[in-house]
Amino acid sequence: MESQPPIPADEALVQTALADPQRLAAVFSTGLLDTPPEESFDRLTRLAAKLTGAPVTFVSLVDANRDFYKSTFGMGEPLSTARELNGRTFCHYALVSGGALILEDATQLPVFQDVPTVASLGIRAYAGIPLKTEEGEVLGSFCAVDFKPKQWSERDIEILVELAHSALREIRLRQALQKAEALNQQLLEQVKRVDELNRELGELATTDALTGLNNRRAFDHGLQLEMAIVERRNTPLSLLMLDVDHFKRINDQFGHDAGDKVLIAIAQMLNGCARVVDVVARVGGEEFAVILPNTDADGALEVAERMRTTVAQAKWLANPATISIGVATLQIKESASRLYSRADAALYDAKAKGRNRVVMG
Ligand code: GH3
Ligand code: MG
Ligand code: MG
Repeated sequence: MESQPPIPADEALVQTALADPQRLAAVFSTGLLDTPPEESFDRLTRLAAKLTGAPVTFVSLVDANRDFYKSTFGMGEPLSTARELNGRTFCHYALVSGGALILEDATQLPVFQDVPTVASLGIRAYAGIPLKTEEGEVLGSFCAVDFKPKQWSERDIEILVELAHSALREIRLRQALQKAEALNQQLLEQVKRVDELNRELGELATTDALTGLNNRRAFDHGLQLEMAIVERRNTPLSLLMLDVDHFKRINDQFGHDAGDKVLIAIAQMLNGCARVVDVVARVGGEEFAVILPNTDADGALEVAERMRTTVAQAKWLANPATISIGVATLQIKESASRLYSRADAALYDAKAKGRNRVVMG
C-alpha cells in the first residue's frame, strides 16, 4: 500500500482530543483500564501479528496521561509487564487521523521523528486503526508496528480493520455484561429491602405502636398458643388484666401527651416485672394483659403484686399513677375466653374495692 502523506502534527488538535472529557468518560466506561490481560483480546493481537507479519501488535486505550495496553503481542520488557506508556505516542495521532494511520517509515516523516517511541523503542513502521465507538468517541487503537520500514499491504490494513472491529465488539460485550451485573446487584438490593420491609411490617402487625408491647392481636395469638401447650403438658397458666386507675384524670390534668408518657412508662415497668416467656400486651387504651405460662395462682399473685407496687412506688412527676389488677388461673377444661372473662371480672372487683389493688378471680 502507498504511504500516506504525513498528517500535520496539529498539537492543539491532539491535545484537545486527549483531554476531551466525553472521550475520557467513554474510555473509563470500558472498565478496561488497568485490568489484567484477557484471552479474548490477546487472541486478536496474536492473530494480527500472524496475519500481517508485524512483530508487535497491541490494543491501546488512550487515557488522559498515558496509553494503557489491554493486550500486547511481541512487546519486550519492561513494556510487556508495565503495559502502559507515558508521553507522546503514535496512537495520539490516530485519535485525530479520522481513519487508519499508516506509516511505512516514521523516521522519514519529519512530524513523527520526535515521537519518543521512535527513538526509545526504534519503531519505524506503524499501522493504527482507531477504536471508535458508535457514539464517535475514539478509545484508542488496534495497532501493528515494526522495527524496520514496512510496506503495509491492503490486506494487512483490512485484517487490522477487521480485528479492530472484533476488539470493539469485545469491549461492548464486556460493558453489556457489567451493566447486567450492576442491574442484578440493584435487583438483589431491592429484594433485600423488600425483605426488610416485610419483616418490619410483620413486627408492626404484632406490636403496639405507642408502647412497643405486644398488641391485641399478638396477645390473642399468644393465649391460643399457651392454651395448646397446657393441653399437651398439663402445666398451669395464669392471666393478669390490668387497668390504669383514673387515667382520665391524668389526661385531663396534664394533657394527652403526658398521658402517653405515663402509658409508656407503665409498659416498661410491666415488662421489667415479667419473664421473657411472659406475654405482656397492651389490649386497650390504658388496659394491659399479661399471659403467665407455667404459673399457678400463687405465682400469678406474686407477679401481679410486684407490678402493682412497682407502678405505685415509681417516681411520677405529679400525682402517683396506680394500677388495678385482676388475676385468673386456668381451671380444668376452662376455655381461653372464660379465663379472660374471669380475669376481667376480678379487675372490675379491684376497681370497685377502691383501685390500686390485686384481686384474684
Ligand atoms: P378507672 O380507674 O375506672 O379505670 O378510670 P379511668 O379514668 O382510667 O377510666 P376511663 O375508661 O374512664 O378512661 C380511660 C381514659 O384513657 C380515657 C381515654 O381518653 C384515655 N386513653 C385511652 N387511650 C389512650 C392513649 O393512647 N393515650 C392517652 N393519653 N390516653 C388514652
Ligand atoms: Mg379502662
Ligand atoms: Mg382506667
